[in-house]
Amino acid sequence: MTNNNLVFDAIIIGSGMGGLVTATQLAAKGAKVLVLERYLIPGGSASYFEQHGYHFDVGASMIFGLGKNGTTNLLTRALDAVNMQIETIPDPVQIHYHLPDGLDIKVDRVYDKFLQNLTAYFPQEARGIRRFYNECWQVFNCLNSMDLLSLEEPRYLMRMFFQHPLACFGLLKYLPKNVGDIARRYIKDPLLLKFIDMECYCWSVVPASMTPMINAGMVFSDRHYGGVNYPKGGVSIIAQKLVEGLEKLGGQIQYQARVKKIILEQGRAVGVELANGQIYRGKRIVSNATRWDTFGKLIPVEKIPNNEKVWQQRYEKSPSFLSLHIGVKSSVLPQHTECHHILLEDWAKMTAAEGTIFVSIPTLLDPDLAPPGHHIIHAFTPHWIDGWLGLSTNRYEAKKEAAAWRIIDRLEQIFPGLDAGLDYLSVGTPRSHRRFLGREDGTYGPIPRRKLRGLLGMPFNRTAIPGLYCVGDSTFPGQGLNAVAFSGFACAHRIAVDLGIGK
Ligand SMILES: Cc1cc2nc3c(=O)[nH]c(=O)nc-3n(C[C@H](O)[C@H](O)[C@H](O)COP(=O)(O)OP(=O)(O)OC[C@H]3O[C@@H](n4cnc5c(N)ncnc54)[C@H](O)[C@@H]3O)c2cc1C
Repeated sequence: MTNNNLVFDAIIIGSGMGGLVTATQLAAKGAKVLVLERYLIPGGSASYFEQHGYHFDVGASMIFGLGKNGTTNLLTRALDAVNMQIETIPDPVQIHYHLPDGLDIKVDRVYDKFLQNLTAYFPQEARGIRRFYNECWQVFNCLNSMDLLSLEEPRYLMRMFFQHPLACFGLLKYLPKNVGDIARRYIKDPLLLKFIDMECYCWSVVPASMTPMINAGMVFSDRHYGGVNYPKGGVSIIAQKLVEGLEKLGGQIQYQARVKKIILEQGRAVGVELANGQIYRGKRIVSNATRWDTFGKLIPVEKIPNNEKVWQQRYEKSPSFLSLHIGVKSSVLPQHTECHHILLEDWAKMTAAEGTIFVSIPTLLDPDLAPPGHHIIHAFTPHWIDGWLGLSTNRYEAKKEAAAWRIIDRLEQIFPGLDAGLDYLSVGTPRSHRRFLGREDGTYGPIPRRKLRGLLGMPFNRTAIPGLYCVGDSTFPGQGLNAVAFSGFACAHRIAVDLGIGK
C-alpha cells in the first residue's frame, strides 16, 4: 500500500524518549512529523503498565533532567518546547548503597552531605574524594553553560567556541577520558576505588575504567544541582505529555505500527514499510530502535555500512534484566526508607548476572501509584537472554520463579518481612524486555567491548546512509533518559539544518 500524498519532513521509528524529543523539537520548528510506534503506548523503556491497582514504571525511575535551572535539564526543556509542564517530586537521596565490607552509604542531594557520608568511611581519603568529585563538577559546569545541540553542526560548534571558549576546551579535554583514570589520580584506597566502580556501574553498566568522564560529570554533579526528581503520576507521564504537545503542533503518532524495513532508493533512505504493508515516505528517516535493530533488521545485513560494522566490533550489547515488579504492604518498609537502593554482597560479582540488585520504590515519592496501604518495589538485576531461550513453557516459568525468589530472599536483608508482606509479583525476563521494549536481546544498550577513549567512539545522529539518522541510547552520549533527550535535541537540530527549517 503506497500513498504518495503522505510525504513527511521526518518519520521517526519509535516513541522512546529519544524519538519523542526529536519529534517534538522538529514539530516545534514547523516540520511535518510522523512517529511510528510498534507498541500500544509511547515511552519505550520509560513507559508503564498497570496491574491490580499498581502503576509500574517498566524501566527508568531515577530521573535526571527535570531540574529548573541551567542548560542540562533537557527533559524540562523538551516539555517546555511544546508548552507542556509536569509536576515533579524532589528525591532527597539519589541512592542508598548497601555494599560489601559494611559500606552503607547514602548519596544525599546536598553535595557536602554526600561527601561527609563517604568521607566517614574513608577519612584518610578526604582530600582525594573532594578533588575527584570536584573534577566531575568541572565537566558538568562546562556542559551546563551552553545549549546542548548537535556536535555535527559546524556553525553551532563555531558559535559555542566563540561564546564559551573555556567550556568548549574543557569538554574537549574530557571527551576521550574515562572515570577510572581520573579517580586513580586522586584516590588510592582499593575499597574506595571499588565504590567508584559501583557509582559508575549502576548507570553505565561498566566499571569506572570504561565509563566516559563526560557522562560521569553529568550524573555525579547534576544529582546535587538539578537533582533527581520523580514525575507525579509515574515516569510515563513525560512521554504522554510529549505526545500531547506533539499532536497539538500537528505532529502525528501511530501505535501498533511496527516498521518492517527502511526503504532505500539509490542508497538513500526515503521511507518506511510497516508490517501491515503500509508505506510512508519522508524526507528524513530517524530510527529510535537500537543500532542492532536498525542495522541488521530495518536495514538488511548486506547493506550495513562499513562504519557500523566497525562500531559493532567496538561496542557490544549490555545484558538485559530480570525485573521483579512487586506490590507490598506498607508495613514492610522501615520508616525513612529511601526511594532507590543498590544491593551487592560480593565485589567480585558486581557485573555478573544476579550480582548487583537495583531497587526503586517510587511510591515513597508518589503514593498514588499503589493502592492505599501498599508500596511498589521494582527490583532488577542483570541477566543475559541466552539462558532464557529454548525453554519449554513449564521450564521457563519454573526458572523465572526460582530466580525471583533468590532476589526476594536477598532483599529480605534490607526489607525484613518482604516475603510475608507480598501482595503482587510480576517477573519479567530478558525475553519480556525484548518483546515489550522492542530491543534486541532486551539489551539495556551499548557498552564498550574493551577500554575505549571516553565517548569518542559513540556515533552522533547522522549515519553513512544518506537521509537516515539514529537517535536514542545507541548514539552519543548513551543510556539514560536525560542522555537520550540530549541525543533527541541534537538529532532534531541536525535535521532542521539539513532541511533548512526553523532557523
Ligand atoms: C530496567 C531499566 C531501568 C532503567 N532505569 C533508568 C533510570 O532509573 N534512569 C534513567 O535515566 N534511565 C534508566 N534506564 C535507561 C533508560 O530507560 C533508557 O536509556 C532510555 O529510556 C532509552 O530511550 P530510547 O529513546 O533510546 O529507546 P527506547 O526507550 O528503547 O524506545 C525505542 C522505541 O522504539 C520502538 N520501536 C523499536 N523498533 C521499532 C519498529 N521497528 N517499529 C516501530 N517502533 C519501534 C520501541 O517499541 C520503543 O518504544 C533504565 C532502563 C531499564 C530497561
